[in-house]
Amino acid sequence: VPELPEVETIRLALVPALVGRRVASVRLLRPDICTPAPGAPCSPAGLLRGQRVRALDRRGKQLAIIADRGILLVHLGMTGSLSALGPGQAPARPNHLHAIWTLDDGRRLVFRDPRRFGGLWPLPGPDALAARWATLGPDALRISGPGLRARCGASARPIKAALLDQAVTAGIGNIYADEALFASGIHPATPAASLGKVDFLRLASAIRATLRQAIRRGGSTIRDYVNSAGQPGTAQTRHAVYGRSGKPCLRCQRRLAAIRLAGRATVFCPHCQPRRKS
Ligand SMILES: [Zn+2]
Repeated sequence: VPELPEVETIRLALVPALVGRRVASVRLLRPDICTPAPGAPCSPAGLLRGQRVRALDRRGKQLAIIADRGILLVHLGMTGSLSALGPGQAPARPNHLHAIWTLDDGRRLVFRDPRRFGGLWPLPGPDALAARWATLGPDALRISGPGLRARCGASARPIKAALLDQAVTAGIGNIYADEALFASGIHPATPAASLGKVDFLRLASAIRATLRQAIRRGGSTIRDYVNSAGQPGTAQTRHAVYGRSGKPCLRCQRRLAAIRLAGRATVFCPHCQPRRKS
């Protein structure tokens, strides 16, 4: 499942291929993956044909291709990928290609999504993008301790559930919620309201550090996710707790425990992340 680091890795890989280029043509092979907006239909024009790409932005796991007269919002869902192909280069996996953009230098951008939980949202401009992103919290890569505390501090729900809420901070999924809570020594079931200012500073710092580390490693690979260069990432082999239930804690060597929280499998170290007495 692409999480923030995978999407940021894709963004960084696509910037040199896309920014400054004009979209020569667009083919939408699966119209049902595209959601039209007023003033931005799922036509080649709505999908940026004839426009020059100015920037690639990201909030959480959403990627925005910003062009002269329109914006295309891309969500990768569970199995989506967006990759650039050189002129004449065939896609590594030719099936499940739902949209193909040909750029003015002969390169192509392809959107692939076998399970189709992702999709494309053409938007008429920056106001529409701002309205859409207003429902999301600050990007997790830039979340601050006070910002995190202000958005979830008074809630009685478990801190892990708050971290997974995209309105609290955008971009944290199951993997990095568990990793950041382990790194900051906080039990995932701790009520958010019982955490103090210093806890939130430590947690926000752990979130940013964990995500940055994963971006440096090129994002993790789960199942059929492949990064935009077609290479599997390597971060998942470096997770401290995610996917390591029953294995020894990397810090204290005691056995990691698994519980279910907010409907998600949750792995933590009962010794390094003790429950607090309230
Ligand atoms: Zn431990």
